[in-house]
Amino acid sequence: MSDTQVQHQSLHELCQTEAFIGRHIGPSVADQAQMLTDIGVQSLQELTEQVVPEGIRLNAPLNVGAPRTEAEATAYLRSLAKQNFVAKNYIGMGYYGTETPAVILRNVLENPGWYTAYTPYQPEIAQGRLEAILNFQQMCIDFTGLDLASASLLDEATAAAEAMALSKRVSKNKKCNLYFIADDVYPQTIDVVKTRAEAFGYEVVIGKAEDALNHDIFGALLQYPNRLGEVLDNRELIAAIKAKKAIVTLATDLMALQLLTSPGELGADVAVGSAQRFGVPMGYGGPHAAFFVTRDAYKRSMPGRIIGVSKDTRGGTALRMAMQTREQHIRREKANSNICTAQVLLANMASFYAVYHGPQGLKTIATRIHRLTQMVATAIEGSSLQLLNKQYFDTLTFKAADNAALVERAQSAGINLRVDSDALGVSLDETTTLADVAELISVLTDESAGDVEALDSQLAEQGYAISKDLLRSDKVLEHPVFNSYHSETEMLRYIKRLENKDLALNHSMISLGSCTMKLNATTQMIPISWPEFAGMHPFAPVEQAAGYQQMIKELSDWLIDITGYDALCMQPNSGAQGEYAGLLAIQKYHESRGDDHRNICLIPSSAHGTNPASAQMANLKVVVVACDKQGNVDMDDLKAKAEELSDNLSCIMITYPSTHGVYEEQVREICDLIHSHGGQVYMDGANMNAQVGLTSPGFIGSDVSHLNLHKTFAIPHGGGGPGMGPIGVKAHLAPFVAGHAVVKTGETSQDNGAVSAAPWGSAGILPISWMYTTLLGSKGLKQSTQVAILNANYLTNNLSQHYPILYRGRNDRIAHECIVDLRPIKEATGISEMDIAKRLMDYGFHSPTMSFPVAGTLMIEPTESESKAEIDRFIEAMVSIKGEIDKVANGEWPLENNPLVNAPHTLADIVDGEFDARPYSREEAAFPVVAVKANKFWPTVNRIDDVYGDRNLFCSCVPMSEY
Ligand SMILES: *Cc1c(COP(=O)(O)O)cnc(C)c1O
Repeated sequence: MSDTQVQHQSLHELCQTEAFIGRHIGPSVADQAQMLTDIGVQSLQELTEQVVPEGIRLNAPLNVGAPRTEAEATAYLRSLAKQNFVAKNYIGMGYYGTETPAVILRNVLENPGWYTAYTPYQPEIAQGRLEAILNFQQMCIDFTGLDLASASLLDEATAAAEAMALSKRVSKNKKCNLYFIADDVYPQTIDVVKTRAEAFGYEVVIGKAEDALNHDIFGALLQYPNRLGEVLDNRELIAAIKAKKAIVTLATDLMALQLLTSPGELGADVAVGSAQRFGVPMGYGGPHAAFFVTRDAYKRSMPGRIIGVSKDTRGGTALRMAMQTREQHIRREKANSNICTAQVLLANMASFYAVYHGPQGLKTIATRIHRLTQMVATAIEGSSLQLLNKQYFDTLTFKAADNAALVERAQSAGINLRVDSDALGVSLDETTTLADVAELISVLTDESAGDVEALDSQLAEQGYAISKDLLRSDKVLEHPVFNSYHSETEMLRYIKRLENKDLALNHSMISLGSCTMKLNATTQMIPISWPEFAGMHPFAPVEQAAGYQQMIKELSDWLIDITGYDALCMQPNSGAQGEYAGLLAIQKYHESRGDDHRNICLIPSSAHGTNPASAQMANLKVVVVACDKQGNVDMDDLKAKAEELSDNLSCIMITYPSTHGVYEEQVREICDLIHSHGGQVYMDGANMNAQVGLTSPGFIGSDVSHLNLHKTFAIPHGGGGPGMGPIGVKAHLAPFVAGHAVVKTGETSQDNGAVSAAPWGSAGILPISWMYTTLLGSKGLKQSTQVAILNANYLTNNLSQHYPILYRGRNDRIAHECIVDLRPIKEATGISEMDIAKRLMDYGFHSPTMSFPVAGTLMIEPTESESKAEIDRFIEAMVSIKGEIDKVANGEWPLENNPLVNAPHTLADIVDGEFDARPYSREEAAFPVVAVKANKFWPTVNRIDDVYGDRNLFCSCVPMSEY
C-alpha cells in the first residue's frame, strides 16, 4: 500500500477492527485466492455451497456482534474482571489459596511450549511432559502410601465417583449394589458420586462413618481430614469395612498428607483428591488436576490415563501412556471410564511445584499452615465461640452465638468464612500470613488478637495439634528429581529441558483430526492469569463474582446463538463429561414423561470411543448402527433398529459432520426418524469447527450437544487437558441439566445432581473462549469455518494425487478434515500407518490422528489457523514420504531397514558409527527435505516398545542411573 493510500483510509479502517481475523486465519486473502483456484472454485461462498447441504445452511448471520480489536476486548474483559471482588478466603472445601511459583507460572502455565501440546499419543516427541506427569504419579504414590497413581482426573468429586466405579468392579462382594458415603465428605463430592450412582443403578447410603459397618456394601467413601477439618484415626473402621469385602476410598488432601499418616498406612484401597493447592490457582472452580491412587492389585481397573516406563529400539528408557487398551478407544462401552481430555497441564504444574519445593520445603509449608491454624484455634478456645475440632490440620469448625452476624462481620472486613449448616469454619492455606491471622482472630473473637508472635513461639514449643500416631514418619519424595532443582536457575533449566523434548504448536502444525488444534492466541490466554479471575473461590458468595457471572452469561449467550439451542449448562469440564451430562438430561426428561423404560442408545460404528463409554455411564444400552461404504450412517440399518427398538429408544448419538469428515445429507432425516420413535438426538459437538456460522445442531434438529471449548473455541490442549465441555440444550431439556449442591447455578432444580465438583466447571479458562469469540465476531467466526474447510480441501486435493482419500461428500468435497487410507499401501509394501506417523517426526511434524475412526488410516485436520506455507510444508513431507514408500515398494530399500521403519531418528542414531550399514544416508534420515534444516526438531528417543511396557508395568520415576 502506498503512503497516499494510507492517508486516505477512514478512521474505521485505520483502527483495524478486523485485524484479528487476519491474524487468526492462517492463509492471507491472496493465498486463499490461490488455494480456491487450486481446488477449482471461485470463492469461499461457492465452496460452502458445494460442501454444506442446502437444507441445513443457515440463512442469517450469527448474532455474536462485530469483531473487537485485541485492545478493546482486553479492556472490556478487564472491566468485567474488576467487578469480581477477591475476598480473603477461608472457605476451603477442597479449594485453597496457593502461591504459584513465578518460575512455574511463566514457564509452564503461560508458556505455549507447554500449553499448546497435544495428549502424548506420540511419545517419542512428548518425553518432557511424560516425565512431568510421571513425577506427578510418583508424588501421589509417595504422599498416599499406595502403589499406582493415574496421570490425573478431572476433579476430586469425579475422582471419587470413579473410585466408586472401581470398587464395584473389584469388590469381592459381587452381588451387592450398595455404596456407602460418610456424611462428613464434602457436599459437592457427595452430589457428584450420588448422581453417578443413580445413573449406574447403584444404591447409596449416607451416614456417620461408623454406620458403614451396619450395611452390606461393595465400597465406602470416607474423607481424611473430613469436611469439618477433623483428623480421625479410622484404621480400625477401615479394617472392619474391608473385612466385609468392601473397598475403602479415602478422599484426602495432599498438603495435609505432608504431616499426616498416609491413607495406605491407614489401610485404604484407594485415595483420591485434588492437587489444586500445589500451585494451581482456584480459578472459580478449575481447572485443576485430581489424583487417583490405588493398590497394585487393582491396576487393570484404574480409570483414566497412566504413564508408564518402557524401552525404545536402542534399549533406552522411554515413557509412554500405559495400558491404553483398557480405555474407551478400544473397549468402547466396556471401558473403565469415559475420560479422554483430563488435566495434564495442571498435573504438570502440581508436579513442578513438588519438584521445586522438595520434601522439606513442602513439609515447611504444611507446618506453617498448621501453626497458623493452631493460633486461630487457640484464640477461638479462649473466646465465646465453641470449637468443634479435637484434632485438625488446617480447617476449624466452630459455632457462634449468632452465626449469621459473624459471617456478615467477616464479609464487611473482606473475609469469607465457610458456612456449614449450623456451624462456621475456616481453612487456612499457603497464602495466609501472620497479619491475616491477627485480623481473622480479631474478626472472629471481636477482640484484638494480642501478641501473635508470642503465641507463635509458645505453640512452636507445644508441637503439632495432631496425635503422634497420626503423624507420618515415612520418608517421601526421595527420588533425586524432587531433591535437585530448588534454586530458580536449576528449576528454570529443568522445565526448559523437558519442554525441549516436546513438539507443540509453537514448532509446527498438529493436524489432529477431530481435535482441532487451532491457534490459541496469546491475547486470549493472558486474562486467565489476572488475579480477579485466577484467585476466585468457586463457593464465594455469587455477588462477589459479578464479573465472572457477566462473562459466563455473555459467552453462554454467544454459544446459544452459535449452536441454535435454547439454554446452556457450563458445568461439564470435558467433552466426555458433556456427553454424560447430556445423556443424563435426556434420561431425566424421559422419566418426567413416564418413559423410564427408554434405555437404548443408538451409536454409529464410526463414533468416538467416549460416546459408548458415556452411554454406559448413563446406564444406557448401546446398540451399534452400521455405516455404509461412504462412511455415512446406513439408513436402512438405522430404520430397522429404530423400528425394532422403538418402545425403548432413548436416543441416538451422532457426530456432525460425521467422524468420517463429511456432511451427511440425511442428517435431518436421522433426527426426524429418531424423534418419530420418541427418542432424542445427541449431537457430539467435537466437529463444531465445521458448523459455526454455516449451520448449527439446533437448526439441524438435534436436542443436545456438548461443545469442546478446547477444540472449536481456542482453549489450548495443555498436553492432554484442561478442557471444557458445556452442553447446549433445547428448551424441553433445560429443566434437566446439572445442578449443584453448594451453589445455585440457575433456574434449574438444584436436585438434578452435579456432574462436576465446581458449579461452572473449569470457569478459570472461560476467558479464553470469551476472547476468541468476541475477537472474531460473527463475521470472523463464519470465515474461520469457511477457511477451515478450504484448508482441508486444499490439503486433500494435493494429497489425493499420492494417497487414496477414504471418504468424500457432496461434489467430491470433504468437510474440515480428511482421512487418508493407508491400508492399500500397507498391503502392497508392508509400510504401516505407524511407520508414516513416526517418520513425520523426522520431518518436524506431529502425526495426524492415527487409526480413528478407521484402523489403518490417518485423519488430517489442518484448521483455519494454519497458513498456506505451513500446509505446503506438510504436503511436501507427505509427498516425500510417499517417495520413500515407493523405494521400499520397488526394492531399493529392504522392508526391515529403511528410514520409515527405523523412524524416528535421534541424534544418537546419527552419531552412531554403525549407521553406515544402513541403506540410506544420515542426511536422508535427519534432513529428508531442505526445509527441515532450518528448523530441525530432534525426537529424544527412538521408537517405543508398547508391548514391553505393558508386560513390565512400571509407573513411577525411574532411577537416575537409567537416564
Ligand atoms: C474429542 C472428542 C470427544 C471427547 O472430548 P474430550 O473433551 O476429550 O472428553 C468426543 N467425541 C469426539 C468426536 C471427539 O473428537
